[in-house]
Amino acid sequence: MLNPDMKAIQIHETGGPEVLQLAELPIPQPGPGQVLIRVEAIGVNFVEIYFRKGTYKAAPPFTPGSEAAGTVEELGPGVTGFAPGDAVASTSMLGSYAEYALAPAAQLVKIPDGVSLEQAAAVLLQGMTAHYLAYSTYPLKAGETALVHAGAGGVGLLLTQMAVRLGVRVFTTVSTPAKAELSREAGAAEAILYTEQDFETEVKRLTGGKGVDVVYDSVGKTTFEKSLNCLHPRGLLALFGGASGPVPPFDLIQLSSKGSLYITRPSLWHYISTRAELEWRAGDVLGWVANGELKLRAEHVYALADAAQAQTDLEGRKTTGKILLEP
Ligand code: NDP
Repeated sequence: MLNPDMKAIQIHETGGPEVLQLAELPIPQPGPGQVLIRVEAIGVNFVEIYFRKGTYKAAPPFTPGSEAAGTVEELGPGVTGFAPGDAVASTSMLGSYAEYALAPAAQLVKIPDGVSLEQAAAVLLQGMTAHYLAYSTYPLKAGETALVHAGAGGVGLLLTQMAVRLGVRVFTTVSTPAKAELSREAGAAEAILYTEQDFETEVKRLTGGKGVDVVYDSVGKTTFEKSLNCLHPRGLLALFGGASGPVPPFDLIQLSSKGSLYITRPSLWHYISTRAELEWRAGDVLGWVANGELKLRAEHVYALADAAQAQTDLEGRKTTGKILLEP
C-alpha cells in the first residue's frame, strides 16, 4: 500500500519562479487508459516557463511538467502492454514535477536496455523535437545548410547533432564563448555570438550571400525578422518557440517580398500523436543514446524542491543542454 501522499510542485497563481511551491498532494489514481509512474527523473523544459507565466494557459492550481522517466507503479483499467516495474518515459505526463505522475498509456514508451532513467528523461522531449524538425518539418538532405538558434540549449545541441549526421552544414547562434565551444563540439560549422555580432550579416557571409535552406528559430521575438532574412528564396523558417518572447503580428506579404518563403509554427504534439509516429521518434532517439550516436549533456540536476531555481537558471540563459529535477 502506497503512502497516500507525495511531494509535488504546485502553482496557485501565474507569476515568477516563486510561484513554484512544494506541496503534499494525494498520489493520483490511474483512470481508464492511464498508468501511474513512480518518477525518478523529471525533464525541465522551456514550455513550463510559458505556463508558469501565463503565456500558455492552465487552470490553477496545477502541477507543471510533462516529461519524466520512472517505473510503472499501477495500471489503470484497460491498459495492456505495460507491467509494474517497467522502466518507462513520456512527454505527456499530467504534472511531472512530482514523486508520482499519471501518463496516458498511448503516450508512454518503454526505455530500452543501455539507456538510464536519467538519460531518458534528459532526451525524450527535446530529442523528439529535434527529430521532427530535422526529419519531418523540413526533411534535411546532405549538402544543405541550416541555422539553429540557441545552439547550446537543450534542443539546440540535439538538433545540431542530428542535422550534422544527415550531412548538413549547421550554423548556430549562442550568447557566450563557452556556449559557442559546446555548440562546435556538437558539430556546428560556426557558432555565431548573436549577443555581439549581427547574425544575419554572418550567415550571409558564411553562405557567400546566398542564405540558408532552413532556419530553426526557438528564440522568437528578438530573432524572427532577421531569421527570415537569412533564408534563400523559397527557404523555410520553423518557428518552434519564443524564449525571448512571442513574435508580434506579421504581415504575410513579407513572405513574398523576401523570396516566396515558407513559415511554420510546429508543436511536438502534432508529430507524435499516433502510436506509430511516437514509436518511430522515441525509438530513434533512445536508440541513438544507447549506441552512443547522440551525446547528451545533463549536468544541471536539481532537487524537486529547487524547481524555482532550475527555471530561474533556464530563463536566465545560465544553462546548457538538459535540466533535470530529482524527486
Ligand atoms: P534551451 O535550453 O534552448 O533554453 C533557451 C535558450 O534560448 C537559452 O539558453 C538561450 O540561449 C536562448 N535565449 C535567447 N534569448 C533568450 C531570452 N531572452 N531569454 C531566455 N533565453 C533566451 O531550452 P529548451 O531546449 O527547453 O527549449 C528551446 C526552445 O524550444 C524553447 O523556445 C521551447 O519553447 C522550444 N520548444 C518547442 C517545442 C515545440 O514542439 N514547438 C518542443 C520543445 C521545445 P543563449 O544564451 O545561447 O542565447
